[in-house]
Amino acid sequence: MDEFLLSQNLRRVCNGEGDSTTSSSRSRQIILVEKPQTPYIVLPSESRFHHLIQRPHFAVDIGGTLCKLVYTTVCHEEGSDRPEVLLNFKKFLNIEMCLQFLKEEWVQRTEEDSLQCTGGGAYKYAETLRSELGVRIARTDEMQSLIQGCDFLLNNNEDESFTYHHEAEGIEKYQYKPIASDLVFPFLLVNIGTGISILKVNSQSSFERIGGSSMGGGTFIGLGHMLTKSNDFDELLFMAEKGDHRKVDTLVADIYGGDYEALNLSSEVIAGSFGKCNKFSSNQELTARPEDFAKSLLLMISNNIGQMAMLYGNRYNVKRIYFGGFFIRKHSITMRTLSYAIKFWSKGECEALFMKHEGYLGAVGAFMANLS
Ligand code: ADP
Repeated sequence: MDEFLLSQNLRRVCNGEGDSTTSSSRSRQIILVEKPQTPYIVLPSESRFHHLIQRPHFAVDIGGTLCKLVYTTVCHEEGSDRPEVLLNFKKFLNIEMCLQFLKEEWVQRTEEDSLQCTGGGAYKYAETLRSELGVRIARTDEMQSLIQGCDFLLNNNEDESFTYHHEAEGIEKYQYKPIASDLVFPFLLVNIGTGISILKVNSQSSFERIGGSSMGGGTFIGLGHMLTKSNDFDELLFMAEKGDHRKVDTLVADIYGGDYEALNLSSEVIAGSFGKCNKFSSNQELTARPEDFAKSLLLMISNNIGQMAMLYGNRYNVKRIYFGGFFIRKHSITMRTLSYAIKFWSKGECEALFMKHEGYLGAVGAFMANLS
């Protein structure tokens, strides 16, 4: 715990066990005097959050690849008249690392406390979490949590959703799109995790899963590893940035020698992803590097998701399409490809909307579940 606080350059000013009257209402919070260097948002000053000043609240979304944790801390900065409750965000590559962190951070937990849990791991690891942490497990439905988290963030974090404009410079690339809560519905939420879920959200309490695909983030890390030997998502993205997919993909130009004018397809359009890897039909030696495979793979998956999202949007007549899930990682190639696909398939009518806390929607929803 101390190591954590020190590593975040935070100062501990008191252990919070002072002036409360009963043991159950006694403060079990450490009060910070500076905002952390790690990601957080300030929770609104609503009655449902007031008790979080006294005791922390933790929620975890355990998916097919990553564990996402959100948890509260309290910060009382000098000069401010009252403490604020912060919601902190942290992800882990596996359940063991997540458990270790929970044990260190949630020091004063008791068997009366509950860990909010969602995702497949809320079932798979329920017993491990219960016995290792000695707290209750409060499970919430994964899709319901996604929607609740998305709804909370859109309504309470002004700069949560944004569009991406690749051609712009620097900060101009990101245009924040706050939306009034009465205008947000209906919308599509395309959650790109290990796999993909497409949800049509009609209101806070009404949604349906209208589609999905197995070709998502898991495909990128899985096939990416087989093609490049890299085991690391960030390294794969880095390679994709350096890659040239034209060494791997068959373009319209490779077939037509230029544009396919009758269909308005430019020479640069990908006609066949990985088409050049077929040694049997090509008399040219393949000169592709791992970086080129990574780029081709990222484009193939992102293009496909963008097109699928827009086709579902058209089919259900929904113009507002949000993308969530940790596959995106605010990466320029991914956001550019998704944005392009949405614009292209909607004939310029729609824009792809991204979320700042893309991978944490489920965890935030689970966090909110028993607070209202
Ligand atoms: P899930 O709940 O299924 O684990 P997530 O929304 O957490 O889904 O997204 C998982 C996907 O995020 C992975 O399949 C991978 O494509 C991508 N990803 C982003 N960052 C990482 C990382 N550091 N390690 C592994 N995968 C990552």
